[in-house]
Amino acid sequence: MKIVMLGAPGAGKGTQAKMIAAEFGIPHISTGDIFRANIKEGTELGKKASEYMERGLLVPDELTLQLIMDRFTKDDCANGYVLDGFPRTIAQAEALTESLKKAGEALDYAIDVDVPDSAIVKRMGGRRACLSCGGTYHVTFNPPKKEGICDLCGGKLSIRKDDEPETVQKRLDVYHAQTQPLIDYYSEQGILRTVDGTQDVGEVFQSIQEILNA
Ligand code: ADP
Ligand code: ADP
Ligand code: ZN
Repeated sequence: MKIVMLGAPGAGKGTQAKMIAAEFGIPHISTGDIFRANIKEGTELGKKASEYMERGLLVPDELTLQLIMDRFTKDDCANGYVLDGFPRTIAQAEALTESLKKAGEALDYAIDVDVPDSAIVKRMGGRRACLSCGGTYHVTFNPPKKEGICDLCGGKLSIRKDDEPETVQKRLDVYHAQTQPLIDYYSEQGILRTVDGTQDVGEVFQSIQEILNA
């Protein structure tokens, strides 16, 4: 199963992608998580990426494509994957389509987690992230068992730098300009499915399961 998650920043792509990955036994691949891991380790890639991420801008396609194409060569991708945060531009989507085509493969679904901008701003303010394992929480909607501590690995939770309100607005603008066109792109390919992302986490997941098990 090869799945792409679409949706605005904060729509719940990561939250759902992790649940899909666990249910279907496929890896959850988040370009944002990979960039953040590189920033934490202080790699060259991390240094370059952080200049863009901190401003709420997209990392250039060339860098992003190098990173993701390398990730696809890992053994755990043999049965597919759920992509979260990639592709984010038409150029990235076309590169993905082409590389799959060369291998005689194709995506199964692009799932758009639909949430209006007004709800996004509320969600981002309460997001807390574990920089050790990528776990994501919300102070009200999805709190960890112990305040400030990751349920999964015991790591410390923090507020992402790019979740400050001004940067969130910038990221929403970037989303509408550069990523939203992917909805039409995948609709034309016949693989777009839309779920109402304003429901509870469990209800959104149920809608997704209905699609994937159909
Ligand atoms: P969110 O899920 O809240 O949208 P992500 O973790 O997916 O955040 O992404 C954080 C940042 O990482 C983005 O704002 C962007 O700067 C960078 N990034 C992640 N994925 C991509 C991508 N496919 N192309 C370009 N930049 C990306
Ligand atoms: P994305 O990967 O699209 O940026 P996340 O999965 O990180 O989004 O979710 C953004 C924030 O909203 C997190 O704090 C998360 O816990 C919370 N969240 C995710 N799904 C829901 C939901 N259905 N209802 C309320 N809050 C949610
Ligand atoms: Zn953790």
